[in-house]
Amino acid sequence: MQKTVTKLADGRELVYYDPDGDVIRDATDLRTPEPAGIRPEIRLDPVLGDWVTVAAHRQGRPYQPPAGDCPLCPSRDGRSTEIPAADYNVVVFENRFPSLSAEGTGRPPDSRPPLFRAESGTGRCEVVCFTSDHDASFADLPESRAALVLDAWIDRTAELSALPAVRQVYCFENRGAEIGVTLAHPHGQIYAYPFVTPRTGKMIARAAEHRARTGRNLAEDLLAAERRDGRRLVLSGTHWTAFVPFAARWPYEVHLYPHRRVPDLPALGPAERAELPLVYLELLRRFDRLFDTPADGDDAEDRDGPKPFAPTPYIAAWHQAPRAGGEELSLHLELFTIRRAANKLKFLAGVESGQDAFVNDVLPEAAARRLRDVAS
Ligand SMILES: [Zn+2]
Repeated sequence: MQKTVTKLADGRELVYYDPDGDVIRDATDLRTPEPAGIRPEIRLDPVLGDWVTVAAHRQGRPYQPPAGDCPLCPSRDGRSTEIPAADYNVVVFENRFPSLSAEGTGRPPDSRPPLFRAESGTGRCEVVCFTSDHDASFADLPESRAALVLDAWIDRTAELSALPAVRQVYCFENRGAEIGVTLAHPHGQIYAYPFVTPRTGKMIARAAEHRARTGRNLAEDLLAAERRDGRRLVLSGTHWTAFVPFAARWPYEVHLYPHRRVPDLPALGPAERAELPLVYLELLRRFDRLFDTPADGDDAEDRDGPKPFAPTPYIAAWHQAPRAGGEELSLHLELFTIRRAANKLKFLAGVESGQDAFVNDVLPEAAARRLRDVAS
């Protein structure tokens, strides 16, 4: 992999990732820099103990611009975008509307009463463009490109984890307008947080309880149990296994674990890295086929209703251990869709949004069967 670090006109960093070779990346950003005025802060919810990021400047970001105005396409035909080059493979740059930034609010450690604790939103938010092809999707990428994206995730995780304020690095992709994606161009994001996220904190606590009770690691026990049981398995390779979790929250939800427990993407060995692009692409392709034909449990309305025009919306979330305190955690992917039938979405309403208590309309074992049925 060849990495070229450059700067945009307003000082943000932009990194090109290319296959090994001698690509020269010397295109200049010709735009006039605009003042960013970014002052994110994080506030501690005194009732739940969760950090909330407050980033009011994000209200002005572009929302679903027409394809001709896409800021993630390469700069061509006199139109300057976020990416100065006329073409690219994989590119990563600092988000222009970040939830977390290098400076944050620059506020000194807190002097407010303890119930109103706020800190500077110091961290980093990056955008990862998977391809220069506006109309592609991750599932369409060849294996070599998926491997290059993996190289970029690994590189970014290692680099961002080393920043002094950063405690946790999160790579993810939101796909589909139904998920709230503001730009259609195939891309993902990386958040480098100055805190441990609520979900990761909960996972650490559960793993510690399991260790105290059994003397063993929770992720290892869980993976072994799913492989033994088999009913919720989706696919199994030499180094990776994917399954629908026993208590899945989402209609179609898959967790992908490496067989050897590692804390994060940079800790993967060569054989695990080599197999991951294949396995990941296969899972995304299966998600795209989920609603092409009726599933067993679909009722008449689901079968005969209008078919969606858009591909399956999904969230692909890479869970990595934080820099400290996550020794019991295992790197894994959580991939899920909010679509529960061809023409129906699952909304987070009263019980989920109001109580964090999910109701799932699809039996996890049936979801796993369906995900095996649509294998390539
Ligand atoms: Zn585009």
